[in-house]
Amino acid sequence: MFRVDLTKIEGVEDFPCPKCGTFISPDDLTKKVYTLLSIEGNDNNPTNMVLQCNKCKSILNLDGFGI
Ligand SMILES: [Zn+2]
Repeated sequence: MFRVDLTKIEGVEDFPCPKCGTFISPDDLTKKVYTLLSIEGNDNNPTNMVLQCNKCKSILNLDGFGI
């Protein structure tokens, strides 16, 4: 599992997958590039998200929402 700290990323728009470099946008509701595995908080104000890159199947644990 990869841990991604969104506070270290410029903006929260999107970020490259740590393994394959595919750009993933947490706000992308089409879910073409990733699969949402779990979410804490609510949809409008998530505190933590776990998703899987659809390209390389890496599990990404996103921290740092709402800071
Ligand atoms: Zn990937």
